[in-house]
Amino acid sequence: MNTLIINEIFYSIQGESLMSGMPTIFIRLTGCPLRCEYCDTAYAFNEGSKKKFDEIITEIEKYDCKNITITGGEPLSQKNTILLMNDLHQLSYNISIETSNAISIKNLNDKTIIILDIKTPGSKEESKNIIDNYKYLKSDDQIKFVICDLDDYIWAKDYIFKYSLHKICTILFSPSYGKMDIKLLAESMLKDNIPARLQTQLHKVIWSDERGR
Ligand code: SF4
Repeated sequence: MNTLIINEIFYSIQGESLMSGMPTIFIRLTGCPLRCEYCDTAYAFNEGSKKKFDEIITEIEKYDCKNITITGGEPLSQKNTILLMNDLHQLSYNISIETSNAISIKNLNDKTIIILDIKTPGSKEESKNIIDNYKYLKSDDQIKFVICDLDDYIWAKDYIFKYSLHKICTILFSPSYGKMDIKLLAESMLKDNIPARLQTQLHKVIWSDERGR
């Protein structure tokens, strides 16, 4: 029986992406090979327990909800994550995955919505970005940049055009919580008429840093 190390499973409002505001079940996987400066889920680096797939499915079936977001940590750092997502697709769940751009997305199911978090210089993990990943993105996937400061903003703006990312799928700009002023980011985006969508972390507006939300 396949297993995964699970940090937590919880039901909340999706706070980011084009699915923002939707009731969603979150499956947070343990482990991440990155150490972003602004990481707010460092508790998921090591904390977790091994669960069989049928235990995971029993837990999510407690919720009357068909939207699932797979997150972490870095969920693709466990090879069985793709197998679980395939099983969940078989059960007709709508699956999205929040993944850093540090692991290949090549083998993900076409039905999975990918939220690809391209690492900016402010994360201090920019060198981990996998350029090859962009060719596997679909039009209904999303690319996210967490913007830490104006240097990050300028970098992300240039990066979009360098790889024509705006022609692939929706681009999301998210101000780093407590670091980047959202108004300054909004005004910069307006000035440049940038082909990206501003988002904020809705769950933090509602629940601040409360865990499991
Ligand atoms: S990839 Fe995500 S979980 Fe990993 S260190 Fe960066 S922000 Fe934290």
